[in-house]
Amino acid sequence: MSVIYITTPIYYPNAPPHIGHAYTTVFADVIARYNRLMKRKVFFMTGNDEHGLKIQRVAEKEGVSPKDFVDKMAGVYRQYWQALNISYDYFIRTTDSYHEKVVSESFKRLYEKGLIYKAKYAGWYCVDCERYYSPGEYIEVEGKPYCPIHNKPLEWLEEETYYFKLSEFKDYIVKLLSETKIVHPESYAREVLSRVQAEGLKDVSVARPRERVSWGIPVPFDPNYTIYVWFDALLNYVSGIGYLTDESRFNEYWPNVVHVIGKDILWFHTVVWFSLLKALDIPPPKRVIVHSFLINRGLKIGKSAGNVIPIEFLVERYNGSDGARYVLMKLFNLDKDVEVTVELMDSIYNSELADTYGNLVRRVGVLALKKVRGKVYRRDVDKKIEESITSLLNKYVEDMEAMEVSKALSEAQELGKILNTYVNEVKPWERPDPSKELYSLLEGIRALSIMLSPVTPRASSIISENFGFPLTSPAEFRVGQIERYNIVDAPVLFKKVQAGREKAGGQENPPGS
Ligand SMILES: [Zn+2]
Repeated sequence: MSVIYITTPIYYPNAPPHIGHAYTTVFADVIARYNRLMKRKVFFMTGNDEHGLKIQRVAEKEGVSPKDFVDKMAGVYRQYWQALNISYDYFIRTTDSYHEKVVSESFKRLYEKGLIYKAKYAGWYCVDCERYYSPGEYIEVEGKPYCPIHNKPLEWLEEETYYFKLSEFKDYIVKLLSETKIVHPESYAREVLSRVQAEGLKDVSVARPRERVSWGIPVPFDPNYTIYVWFDALLNYVSGIGYLTDESRFNEYWPNVVHVIGKDILWFHTVVWFSLLKALDIPPPKRVIVHSFLINRGLKIGKSAGNVIPIEFLVERYNGSDGARYVLMKLFNLDKDVEVTVELMDSIYNSELADTYGNLVRRVGVLALKKVRGKVYRRDVDKKIEESITSLLNKYVEDMEAMEVSKALSEAQELGKILNTYVNEVKPWERPDPSKELYSLLEGIRALSIMLSPVTPRASSIISENFGFPLTSPAEFRVGQIERYNIVDAPVLFKKVQAGREKAGGQENPPGS
């Protein structure tokens, strides 16, 4: 049986998740659900990155211990993922003791191999980023170095610290980036490659003095130091499937890992992660799928840009998780940033889910109930419909295998439109016995519901139950498989959204923006 291990980045829970987190997580969930539909063995992992200075500080501000704070936030994240119907198999937390042991042991091994060493460091440091910036990386404001992300002055810091010998892995990284297809789309691999070739690789700090950062995993042989949060966090991808604890499980899943990441963490998930794995004698991941961002008014959506679209808003406005998921996946893009507005999301939801799919299902269901009391027996399927189902389902599978979810949804849309046109053409309501037409339409609806099921799992299962057909694997789908449909209800799946509800001064503004 083929296996897929799919991961999201683990999220830093200093604040609740927003649409950007949802974008990544829903995509990973859709890939997981599609692969389960194809009857593959799937392990889908998400979770939280719980150590580090920022957490330490937020907890201090709230007057609670860091552990209490991250416990609470793990609950918050789980609630959001439930609201979006995320079907993760495991929620990893970096404060779990087995993970801490893996990090500690890995650190020790690299030290013993000479790949981690102690040395003095001095440089410009951003407290919010928890990292140093070298010349060329920071910006200058009135001659003073500023953080390019936080746009505030950097602090000059001098400390003894532990370093990871990233510089040793330059040839290895260049080879992986230029000779393999791990990074997808390939343009991202080229981007990293040219940076590596232009700048080379410098050793990176992997620990912080304990007096500065206490909330983290101690360096096992030097308790005056805390292991840097990035080293700790990256290792979640291997600790979560049994690295150093369950060898057979690790060996089953690791060769099939697919990481889903946003382009902002591309460097870490290629150069740093591939090197760290190599240092631990672990092969590189199978795939790193990189996506671009949702932007609003030209800026990446995020807390600092002040243009956050709350997940609650999506779920409420688009009729629960299905609508929210669909809208996000239709917008999803690997290569280029997508400008998102409420108006655009409304129009996707209304035309594709409410009109094309929802309306089709409702019309055909009502007709079947009226004309043949819901029982539709097998007939020859209209040739044109049969051909459309087969060819669009094939294209859909091709797209989904290439993880082109948005494209796959367009194939589903096309089938929905063909079926709606067919209803208008054959007018089943005018026929004494429209069984052939209804059966053809139901076979189309069955295919369409299967195609949409990774994205709109609730709606697909409601229709499968009310119309009496199983959601089979696309690979096993044959037109004419169903002997008899038994329609018991024709529910309204998606209520239309009234445009303009959120209009403020002629501009669409989501709450919180
Ligand atoms: Zn910063």
